Amino acid sequence: MQIVSSPEEMRRIAQQVRQEGKTIGFVPTMGYLHEGHLSLVQKAKKASDFTVVSLFVNPTQFGPQEDLDRYPRDFHRDRELLENESVDLLFAPEKSALYPEGFSTVVRVEGLTDRLCGQSRPWHFGGVTLIVCKLFHLVQPQAAWFGQKDYQQCQVIRRMVRDLDFGIQIHVCPIIRENDGLAMSSRNRYLQPEERKQAPVLVRSLAAANQLFLEDERSAARLVSAIHSTLARSPEARIDYVEVVDAESLEPIETVVDPAVAVIAVYFGQTRLIDNHILGEDLSY
Ligand code: AMP
Repeated sequence: MQIVSSPEEMRRIAQQVRQEGKTIGFVPTMGYLHEGHLSLVQKAKKASDFTVVSLFVNPTQFGPQEDLDRYPRDFHRDRELLENESVDLLFAPEKSALYPEGFSTVVRVEGLTDRLCGQSRPWHFGGVTLIVCKLFHLVQPQAAWFGQKDYQQCQVIRRMVRDLDFGIQIHVCPIIRENDGLAMSSRNRYLQPEERKQAPVLVRSLAAANQLFLEDERSAARLVSAIHSTLARSPEARIDYVEVVDAESLEPIETVVDPAVAVIAVYFGQTRLIDNHILGEDLSY
């Protein structure tokens, strides 16, 4: 596995790979890899001639009071995991190489980013679209793989790719969960033992709404209320948002007619966890 930190070197290799007529598959990450990340890598590997994984804790998507400095990092372990997956290239740039002095450009998708996570973390999606845009230019993939775990992020990136004519295929992959149903996340390690014990209440609350949906409940308010009453059983859970929204536009709905997704964000102590489920799909874990 090649390890590259220089953006210029990344661009040069990508150009060379494309000149050889090979396809580039790309998985962007912030590292501290788990099976969720690796599931994307495996799909990218299968579909591409040359697989690139990036590892970069992107400062512009963190707020001033957020966990940028304490975000978990373990480069050696990540490198080993990616080597085991036979990834072709690991791109791990330095912050100063991607954001040199005087950097002043923004990349913003309007509308889609105003609500849900965008409301509680208004800086977040601007940072995501900026870094994904930069990485796409450097890695030059034909296709990229993202996790449904970050549902709104996937929709935002799809919109950016469409609006700005990137010509990159965006694949969204299922959420990988722990045995007790908690969606895997690098941030799960922040949870205190009691919080960790209670955290599967997120998936249980989504399962409750899904069950109601399968029993033909179509009122978004009643589906949301089922999620609320499940979450209320966990004393440590503090709700940021619970919504049932249109799966495409993420706009609020009253009645589920078109595909809809239940999206939730819940704090356990200082740790904010997100999860979601497309209503009517299987939710087994
Ligand atoms: P991150 O390192 O948190 O930026 O995540 C990198 C990519 O992995 C994103 O596309 C995430 O949506 C995806 N991802 C994170 N957790 C999971 C999970 N539990 N299952 C599937 N994909 C995930």
